Amino acid sequence: MVDQPVCACDLMLFGASGDLAQRKLFPALYQLDRAGLLASDSRVLAIARRDTDTAALRKALLARLEEQIPEPEFDATVAQGFVSRVEYLELDFTDTDGFLVLNDWRHPGNQLIVYMATPPSMYGVIARNLRAGGCCTERTRVVVEKPIGHDLESSKVINDELAEVYRESQLFRIDHYLGKETVQNLIALRFANNLFASQWDQNHISHVEITVAESMGIEGRWGYFDQAGQIRDMIQNHLLQLLCLIAMDPPSDLSADSIRDEKVKVLKALKRITPDMMAEYVVRGQYTSGTSEGKPVPGYLDEEGANKASETETFVALKAEIDNWRWSGVPFYIRTGKRLPEKMSQIIIHFKPAPHYIFDPDQKHLANNKLIIRLQPDEGMALKILTKDQGLDKGMRLRQGPLELTFSETFDTDRIPDAYERLLWEIMRGNQYLFVRRDEVEHAWRWVDQIIRNWHDSGEPPKRYAAGTWGPVASIAMITRDGRSWY
Ligand code: NDP
Repeated sequence: MVDQPVCACDLMLFGASGDLAQRKLFPALYQLDRAGLLASDSRVLAIARRDTDTAALRKALLARLEEQIPEPEFDATVAQGFVSRVEYLELDFTDTDGFLVLNDWRHPGNQLIVYMATPPSMYGVIARNLRAGGCCTERTRVVVEKPIGHDLESSKVINDELAEVYRESQLFRIDHYLGKETVQNLIALRFANNLFASQWDQNHISHVEITVAESMGIEGRWGYFDQAGQIRDMIQNHLLQLLCLIAMDPPSDLSADSIRDEKVKVLKALKRITPDMMAEYVVRGQYTSGTSEGKPVPGYLDEEGANKASETETFVALKAEIDNWRWSGVPFYIRTGKRLPEKMSQIIIHFKPAPHYIFDPDQKHLANNKLIIRLQPDEGMALKILTKDQGLDKGMRLRQGPLELTFSETFDTDRIPDAYERLLWEIMRGNQYLFVRRDEVEHAWRWVDQIIRNWHDSGEPPKRYAAGTWGPVASIAMITRDGRSWY
């Protein structure tokens, strides 16, 4: 089935001058327009407090799109058409009276989408001002970004503020990992292929690895990052979402609530990591100076604007366990960090070896299949299987090789859409299955909060690792203690 344009949408983009809007949202909207997926009457109201006007915004936007969009994908006519959909409104979000003009802008027949690409502290303010300005309908869809708070209590405050004005069915909480093609493919892989469905439990899987590695450092966002740290910035949302998609039971259908109900069950079953488990289950690290892509780079505490006494972690490795029938005894090893040797995200499912081994004993270590799911780079999947080595002299020696599926090569696709294209498209269609429900956010915080509390109570500083390495040695010890290694 080919996706068709949805009904005309009026998109109010709050925070249009910000990094997210400029770097991700406008290019994604351009791509949707290029693909013919924006209805002809769809419009965008770019809202920010800068002193500019529609003509100047369009000119700047056109120039930026030309710079951002790769050459074969940039079509000057489409870009011109796209920017002509965009208007500018100068508005301070705290100015309640200023919101009165918004109602005049929108076309009552169009689907209203409110995108809050702003600091989360503004979500409640914008929602209340929209309501006061009479621009709040039952059909409005509201998009908010992570982080929803910095712990369970603050996330409840933000969610309560939004709930004062909107129903849960109107809220689209973004975790952009859920918009990645490969992440959605996890759902297809698991629930469309009986081959895997029947193997997906503690009888057949020994352990699971999830790595989300970044080679970059703080990139001028020291102040923001230092308040959060890697566990709040990455684990509470992206990595726990990946874990849920791997671990959840089959939903009864593809509806948003069926999928989200199953994810919540996983979050609720995560074993609490108590203070006495910390040494064995969690490693937090902070990078010191080292190299990145062959060049020397400063340590976290030497970055521009750094507080030299900061004990914020830039790396976390942990062992998560799920206390349920399916996953009892199967650890999920998770690691994520900055200034690691490469930018790479992957999930590896390690299957148990065959119950009775009849080949060369020296090769026994090879005897388990692995399913590698690559999120980046080169989105795709590979199943490592064992075959016979070729050649008369090899006897029945084994060899491990991949059954490989690289999406861009296997399927005749010229490009894989960016996560924000998919997410914006689903918002326009009103489909919430790729968005995070309130109880998911809160259960994830509950689990992460107690790890953070344990850190604080122990007073132990993060372990150091040199930029350009795979994190503190303790993160390697964490997995080797269990007789395993990071792939
Ligand atoms: P920025 O700080 O770059 O942008 C924030 C925007 O909000 C700016 O346009 C800013 O205007 C505007 N703003 C803030 N306060 C007011 C106000 N009182 N009145 C009017 N405008 C206001 O943030 P980002 O774009 O980086 O992030 C936006 C949201 O998305 C955040 O919640 C962030 O956590 C989340 N996010 C961002 C990602 C990214 O890649 N950037 C990735 C994932 C999530 P001005 O320029 O005038 O200050």
